Amino acid sequence: MARRGLSKSKYVAFCSCEKLLWLRVYKSELAEVDEASQARMDTGNDVGDLAMGLFGDYVEVTAHKEDGSLYLAKMIEDTQKCLADGVENICEASFSYNGCYCAVDILKKEKGGYAIYEVKSSTDVKDYHLTDIAYQKYVLEKCGVNVTGTYIVHIDNTYVFDGNLDVTKLFMVEDVAEQMENEYIKVPNLLPAALKLIASDQEPIKDIDEKCCGCEFWGYCAKHVPTPSVFDLYNMRTSKKLEFYREGLISYEDLQKAKCIDNPIRIMQLEGALQGKTFINKKGISDFLKTLSYPLYFLDFETMQQVIPDIIGTRPYQQITFQYSLHYIETEGGELKHKEFLAESGKNPLRDIAEQLCRDIPKNVCTMAYNKAFECTRIRELADLFPDLSEHLLNIKNHIVDLLVPFQQGNYYVKEMGGSFSIKSVLPALFPDDPSLNYHNLDERVQNGGDAMTIFPKIKDMPPEEQEATRKALLEYCKLDTLAMVKIWQRLLDVVK
Ligand code: SF4
Repeated sequence: MARRGLSKSKYVAFCSCEKLLWLRVYKSELAEVDEASQARMDTGNDVGDLAMGLFGDYVEVTAHKEDGSLYLAKMIEDTQKCLADGVENICEASFSYNGCYCAVDILKKEKGGYAIYEVKSSTDVKDYHLTDIAYQKYVLEKCGVNVTGTYIVHIDNTYVFDGNLDVTKLFMVEDVAEQMENEYIKVPNLLPAALKLIASDQEPIKDIDEKCCGCEFWGYCAKHVPTPSVFDLYNMRTSKKLEFYREGLISYEDLQKAKCIDNPIRIMQLEGALQGKTFINKKGISDFLKTLSYPLYFLDFETMQQVIPDIIGTRPYQQITFQYSLHYIETEGGELKHKEFLAESGKNPLRDIAEQLCRDIPKNVCTMAYNKAFECTRIRELADLFPDLSEHLLNIKNHIVDLLVPFQQGNYYVKEMGGSFSIKSVLPALFPDDPSLNYHNLDERVQNGGDAMTIFPKIKDMPPEEQEATRKALLEYCKLDTLAMVKIWQRLLDVVK
C-alpha cells in the first residue's frame, strides 16, 4: 500500500472538495470540529457497532497496533482468512488495491459472491453514501471479489423502542445498486487524481464556494476574510453572500460604500458595526409589550435526541423533552416566582412532563418563550400523545408569545448582537457586565443546550453523588434560560418607560 493511501472517507472528501482531502491528510490539526459534529461521529461509531449483528453471527476483523492506530495489514490478512473459511458475515472486511484501502462495514456472503452493506446513522440515503459505496465496490472488484449487491443500512425513525432493541426493525436496508451506478462509473477516472493529490505536499489552490458552508476547515480557508464580513449578514442566502464576495464586496466597509444592502436589519448590522449606532423603536417595542398580560409565564424546554433509543415508547431522533424551567409573575409589580421539572434519567419523561406542565401553567395565561416554534412543536407533540391532556396543552401552546419577535423585527438592535437574535447573542449584548447572566459561570458540566442533551441520558449510569451534582447543574442551566428571558423582557419595559 502507498505511504499515504486512500480510504473510503478520503475518497468521499476528494469528491466533495480536493482541498478538503489534502487538508485532512496534511493539515488535519487545522480542522475545527465542533461538539455537535464530534457527537455525530461518536454516534456513527455506536450505530456501526450495533449493526454488526444485523444478519446474525459475524466475525469482526478490526485490529489495532500498540499505539492504538488501525493495524490495516492484519485486517486485510484476516479478511482473506475469513473469505477462505467461508465466513457468512465479515465486519470491517478490509481490502487494498493500488493505494486504495477500504473497510466494508458488513460483507455478507451471497450466492456467487458477496454483498456490501454500508451502515449510516442517517434516516435516509444521501448522495455521498453512493459515492462511498461505489468506491468500495470498485476496490473489492479489483481485489477479485464478485460484488453481488450494494446496500445502505440506515436508521428507520418510525421504529418504536419497546424495551427490547430489535436491530432488524431499527435499521432499514436499501438496495442502491442502480442509484450508485453513475458514481461507480466515475471511480476509475477520479482515483488517479485523488492518489496524485495525496502524494503531493503542494496545497491545492481553491477559493471558498458553496460547499464551504459548515466545513471543518472554514476558519483556515477563509482566513483572508475580515470579521465581520458579508458572511455574517443576517438571514442572507449563501449564494447571495458568495455573489458579493466574488464582486469584492466583503467587509462591512465595502458593502456600505457600495450601498448594495437594502434589508433594514442588515443595514442596522452595518451601521451598528461601523458607526456604533444603537437602534430602538419604542413604538414597535411598546406594541409588542401590549400583547402580554398577567399572570405572565416564561417557559423553556430542554430536549434530547437518541439515535439508538433506550427509553420505552420513543423513536430514533425523536425530540424528547425532559426538562423545563418556568418563571412567572402573577400581577404587575409582583414577585418573580419559579417552578421547574427535571425527569428521571432512563425513564420516559413525556407523561410526567405533560401532567406537570398542565399543573404549573393554567389555561388562558400568557406564556413567553424565546423562538417559540420549538416549545410549541414539543407541546403539540405532547397533546397528540395524551388526548386527555390535549385541550389544556393546546391552550398553553395557543397562548405562547415569542420574545424573539421585537429583536427579529429590528425594534431593538445593538452592535454586539452581531446580526444574531438568538438568546445566546441578545443576552450578553444587553447585559455584558452581569456575571449572574453569564452561562460560562455555570457548573462546567452544563453550560449550553448541547451539554444538557448529552449529559441527561448518562445520569442513570453515574454514581449517586455525581447524579445529584449533574441534576443540580441541569436545573441551574435551564433556570438561567428563563431568568434571561425575564431580564430581557424587563429591559424592554425599561426602554419604553
Ligand atoms: S472550506 Fe471549502 S475550500 Fe476549504 S476545505 Fe472546506 S470545502 Fe474545501
